Amino acid sequence: MANQNRFYVDVSSLHKEVTGSCILNTIKFPNGSTKKILIDCGLFQEREYSELNKSLPFIAENIDYVIVTHNHVDHTGRLPLLVKQGFQGKIHMSYDTSVLIKNALVDSYKVLHKKAELANEPLLYSDDDVDKTLSLVCPHPYEESIWLDDNIKLTFFMNGHLPGALIVLMQIHYQDSLHKYEKINLLYTGDYNNKNMFFDVSPIPKWVHQLPISIIQESTYGAMNSDEIDYVFEKNIIDATNLGKEIVIPVFSLGRSQEIMLMLKQMQNSGKLSKDIPIYFDGKLGIRYTKIYLSNQIFIDEKSIDFLPKNFSYVTSKTQRDSILNNNQSKIVLTTSGMGSYGPAQVYLPAFLKKQNALIHFTGYLAEDTLGRKLIESEINSVVEASGLKLKKQAEVKTTCEFSAHAKSDELIEFLKPFEDIKMILINHGTSESKDIYSQKVVNEIDAKSVGVLGRDYLFRLNAFGLVKSISTKF
Ligand SMILES: [Zn+2]
Ligand SMILES: [Zn+2]
Repeated sequence: MANQNRFYVDVSSLHKEVTGSCILNTIKFPNGSTKKILIDCGLFQEREYSELNKSLPFIAENIDYVIVTHNHVDHTGRLPLLVKQGFQGKIHMSYDTSVLIKNALVDSYKVLHKKAELANEPLLYSDDDVDKTLSLVCPHPYEESIWLDDNIKLTFFMNGHLPGALIVLMQIHYQDSLHKYEKINLLYTGDYNNKNMFFDVSPIPKWVHQLPISIIQESTYGAMNSDEIDYVFEKNIIDATNLGKEIVIPVFSLGRSQEIMLMLKQMQNSGKLSKDIPIYFDGKLGIRYTKIYLSNQIFIDEKSIDFLPKNFSYVTSKTQRDSILNNNQSKIVLTTSGMGSYGPAQVYLPAFLKKQNALIHFTGYLAEDTLGRKLIESEINSVVEASGLKLKKQAEVKTTCEFSAHAKSDELIEFLKPFEDIKMILINHGTSESKDIYSQKVVNEIDAKSVGVLGRDYLFRLNAFGLVKSISTKF
């Protein structure tokens, strides 16, 4: 019988919590050869981890293949650094991500460039590195096998996190003249959502549920159940418009902007929101993504393609922006960035913060150190520092997590339940707290041989039968 312990994968996470996503998989074959595969290569976004962006804790030329799960910069933003440092292989992703990724990498380069100039620091990578990265992109359809070489097969499945987001199945085969080895099946959920407002998510097929498999699962909302969410956005917006307020809604460029537009359109259609109130959208990258949604270049269900509300305009000039800022008419302004620290939100938030008759409504997670977090945590009439100014907070500031693009704890458990033979579950992509809480829930509710928490402290050696051992790591 073949000695399976000579055939294994070391799965190691180079990120600690949510941002900077990068999973290094080192495959050892019984003949002594090795293959290294990266799943995502993102930027760290929290200030406390920013030093980690400057280097990669492995030799880039030694990476054989890269897979990108979706188009968020905390999953893609260090690909150009990887290429700069010598990676020359292909970067595999879905068709939709291949359409979207150029916008994200070019924009992220501009943001990094500006930051580096301000801090008088060297640039992480050049625009040439961005171009080289884009030339390595290799798009694939869902649910078709992709053989990376004779031994490694990938299959991509749909995921509601974003248009183009993937769940990745990696199947590793090996046989020599004497033995055929049991194949190793690994499933990476990426950032996962079971639904999306713009398309129906195809379920994972039964043949995948029947495989002996190890699953690397995200847990961003592993500590929260879906019934704990308060759906307050619609009511907050209606109440504010009834009072004739001016409303600013900071949004993420991709996904959240278009969801809010669709939601406002539905509110108009049901008569809850007056079509007389003008709606504006200010943010170059967000406008570009919105036009891609509208253009048929990515997969959007026909029923959602007509998502622009009535009385809606893009803000494309400074004169137009100034007129929006300076009149006191009731209006709704969607603007990027979602946490308020970048883009035109830096102009709108200070301007609206000092208006008593205004509502600033955030629509997602607000990381520490962001303008959004500062505004939500400060008392009314207190002084807040925003965009270099000291301002008295007079506007109402609210937030909601109802639009989250991540499945909640109970939905993550539902995802696992149909699998018939789980060898190991590795809990990934969450704060230390949510990973711990969720892993406990998995231990209690799911029949799996072993459960582990993926972070920077340990790598996990897996073979076809599950966990071989965990090994402490130092990066
Ligand atoms: Zn994401
Ligand atoms: Zn993520």
